[in-house]
Parts: sequence; C-alpha cells; structure tokens
Amino acid sequence: MNNIRVAFLFISFFIVQVSFAQKKKSKLSKADNTTVTNLQANIGYLASDKLEGRRAGTNGEKLASEFISQKFQEAGLQPKGTDGFFQPFEIYDGKQINNATHFVINENNLAIDKDFFPFPFSQNASIEAMPSIAVQEADMPWFYDLKETLEENKNNPHFDLSEYIRNNAKKAKSRGASAVILYNSSTIDDQLKFDSKDRTEKLDVPVVYVTKDAAKKYFGDQTATIDIKLKVDIGDKKRTGHNIIGYLDNGAARTVVLGAHYDHLGYGEDGNSMLRTGEKAIHNGADDNASGTAALIELARILKNTKQKNNNYLFIAFSAEELGLNGSKFFTEHPTIDFTKVNYMINMDMVGRLNDSSEVVTIGGYGTSPQWGTLIDPNNKKNPFVIRIDSSGTGPSDHTSFYRKDIPVLFFFTGLHSDYHKPSDDADKINYTGETKIINYISSIVLSPTTSSQKLAFLKTRETQSTSSLRSGGVTMGIMPDYTFAGTGIRCDGISDGRPAQKAGLKAGDIIIKVGDYSISSMDSYMQTLGKFQKGDKAKVKFKRGNEEMETEVQF
Ligand SMILES: [Zn+2]
Repeated sequence: MNNIRVAFLFISFFIVQVSFAQKKKSKLSKADNTTVTNLQANIGYLASDKLEGRRAGTNGEKLASEFISQKFQEAGLQPKGTDGFFQPFEIYDGKQINNATHFVINENNLAIDKDFFPFPFSQNASIEAMPSIAVQEADMPWFYDLKETLEENKNNPHFDLSEYIRNNAKKAKSRGASAVILYNSSTIDDQLKFDSKDRTEKLDVPVVYVTKDAAKKYFGDQTATIDIKLKVDIGDKKRTGHNIIGYLDNGAARTVVLGAHYDHLGYGEDGNSMLRTGEKAIHNGADDNASGTAALIELARILKNTKQKNNNYLFIAFSAEELGLNGSKFFTEHPTIDFTKVNYMINMDMVGRLNDSSEVVTIGGYGTSPQWGTLIDPNNKKNPFVIRIDSSGTGPSDHTSFYRKDIPVLFFFTGLHSDYHKPSDDADKINYTGETKIINYISSIVLSPTTSSQKLAFLKTRETQSTSSLRSGGVTMGIMPDYTFAGTGIRCDGISDGRPAQKAGLKAGDIIIKVGDYSISSMDSYMQTLGKFQKGDKAKVKFKRGNEEMETEVQF
C-alpha cells in the first residue's frame, strides 16, 4: 500500500456497510488447510529478516522475486515477463552527485558534502580559473556571501532561500558569470544541503555551495586571487525493479489479470516509513504485502487445478508499488500480452489482517463495471465476511494503473492498522484463516458465469483525492500526481471532477511547474506551496501541456 496515497482512505470512502448477523466458526476443509499451510510458509519467508524488507532494486527484492518465480513455476505457469518470469524496469530515484565532481582551491581538494556541494539544479561543467573573490568579472566564477540576505530575511516567513539562489544565479549568468559560488559567513543556519529529490529546472550555470569552515579557510581574504579547478557532474540516480509475471493459458478469448505487489520498504530508506524515530530497522511487510503476494501464489495453484477454463489468467507480482505504483504502471505501458484481451484486473494489497470481530473486507473498484454490482452483494447474508464497498477505480495501490487504461478493477483490502509501514508488520499477526476466506471469495468471483462468459463493461468512476487534505491549513487542487514522473514539476495522472484544477481547465498529462510565486520542484514543495494558501484564494498556475507552456488561474 502506498503511503502518500493512503491518507485519503480515511476520508473519501463511500461506504455501504451492513451488520453481519451470524458468525459461525466452521471447521476448515482439507483444501482450506492446504491454503493456510502454504500461506504460513510463504508469508513466513517473504516477511523474514533475510529479505530485509524487500525494497525495490535491492538484494531483498531479488530474493523475493526468485522465490515468487519459483512458486509460479511450481504452480505450472508459463513465464510471461521479458526475461523469463521477470520484467525489469528502471526506477528514477532522484539526482546524485557523480564521482567526477571535484573542487580544487589552491591545490587543496575539497571534500564533497563536508566542504562543498553543487546544487541539483546546477549545470554540469568543468572550469579552471583564477578569480579574485571580491571582483565580478565576465567569464569568471562569481562569489556570493549569503550573510546579508539571510539577516535581512530572518523574520520573513515568505522568504524562500532556494528560490532566491536560483534567481540570483540566473541573473549572475546573464551578466557574465561562468559559475556561482555561494557561502554563508553569518551565524544563521541556512540548512542548505544537496536535495536529491529536487526537480527544479536545470540552470545553464554551475552553482556550488562552500560550507562554513571551508569558506573561512579559502575566502577569508576577499582581495586574494585564488586558483580554482571545478567540475560539476550531477546525474540521475536509478535502480532496477522487477515485476514477476506468470501466465495460465487456457486458450480462452479473454484474460483476467490478478495482481499483488511484493515490494516493501526495506529499512525505510525511501522516507515512507511510519516509524518516526529514524532508527534503521527492517520493515518486514507481512500484511503489506507478503499477504497479497502469497494469496496470488495460492490463486495460481487453485486456478490451475480447476476444470473451468473460460479465462486465461495472468498473475503479476509488482515491484516498486511503495515508490509510486511504478511496477504496475510500467506493465500497463509495456504489457507482455495482448492488452485488448484483458477482461478485468483484481488487486490484493494488505489482505492479511481480517479482524475476527468486525470481519470487514473493503472491496474497491466496485463502480468500474456494472457487472460487479450483480456479483458482489454487500447485503447477502451468505457473504463469508462483512463487505464494505468503495466505488472508485483509483486508490493507493496497483489497480489504479489498470483503471487508468479503462480496465474494470477490484481491490481487496482488510484495512489499516497500527503496524502499517512499521517494522512490526510481522507474519505472526496475520489472520491466515481470514485470508483463506478472501482467496476463496476471489476465486468464486473469477470462476462465476457472470465474469467468465462476457467482456465486462467499463465505467469511469470519481477520482479519489490523493493529495492529503489532512495537513494543517492546506488546500487541495484535486489532482492525482504521477509519482513515477522524473521531470521538472508535478505531472497530473488524473484530475478530480468539480475540484479547482478541473475548473481551471487542467487536464490529465499536464505538468504543473509553478503555483503563485512558487516553483514546484518536488512533491514536498508542492505540498508546502499548497500550505501557503487558504480556501477561496486564487493563484496563477503555470503548467506544461506537451511542449507548450501555459497559464491558468485556480481558485482553492
Ligand atoms: Zn505499503
């Protein structure tokens, strides 16, 4: 389950719930016993410390992917990735300072981070020069002490230092500077650091910050001429994630996609842990989402062994869901089967915590096809658990990627809990018989005559609001951001009906680069910017549509 998207689960569900009258403790059948045993073994392994939290692109992900492909093989599935069962894809992971970067002053090699760093929006360049610090000459590096600016703006809540630096660097370049070198001789903490998530536009001049001690050492004498050798080399940081894809070919006309993400948070390196202490601990992700992965493996085994062959089945264990649904998005853009034959998609994310007293299972995507209504009846007394319906085809997990391609979806989810995205999401807290009920229910949906005898009609639903409006004082625009987008600004995956962005004429695919006076450099800066507006405020929004830069006005 994806962190940034999960906040709205609390606020946006359209809930139909009925009281659940009879609850009987029945003995498990032999088949159910097999399922429970398999779930225990598979979740036990996937959520063990050996896999170190299955973070996308790590050795833990590799061990998990080998295990899952092995299980797919044992279930008799055909490999349907681009490399056997695997479908590798690149994950953009922000920017990094490459090793070639160096800064030599008077023959002294400055250490990256400790003595200096280039800003992520800096131009890559190589410069050798002998400037004097106090003089601003054409084609020479220019030096700026941030002292005065910081002191002047000490009490200005609207002052944005990084925006100031960018603007000043642009100005310096237009007046002839070959590089901009910043330092801070004041006692005010400027909190500047290399921000790998920065997405502001690259400038056409190198911009470098020299830390306090180094600046004292080399820039103490303002009249001195210094010997500089500077090389800035900033690149994209990338990792490779792997979807695991297995196919059950029954020679049928239509294919059902069953999916669950298998990646989790690792040690919380990506900033999506709910453990706020900052300590390094393995996030085992038993419920999120070893539970869904193990359910997927069981469904492969069960569906392989049924006589009904009305569908083909594609089983996908997605990676990098936790980073922004990257794996499912990659698959829907690079499908390994004929995508026109896909009938519908069922996603399982966090299906291991069925509460024994409330027995609530949330089923999302209910509104994405009229046929779901005839199949799933929350009021049916024979339901094996209490069913809560969420009509929306979008939400905090991978079914969203399929809904965006006009595929009917269902999303199974047993609810949030206090171990969500914490190291304590462990295998001993899984309700194995509860999960077995869910697996059986999904299998009954897949095998029902309603879903297997026809192509399900697709319906568009409302968008769930994804930027959290729970943050204090914030307003929202009503966009669904594309978390996998690597360019400058925020790309809109979807636009909510009736919300400010839609009223202002923004469309899916637009890239927001500025709101009011604030450049949007990252998801965080977008959130911070929204925090500066009140309901009713108006703001100019600059955005890119294709290659065109456009402007509109939103009212919050
Ligand atoms: Zn999650």
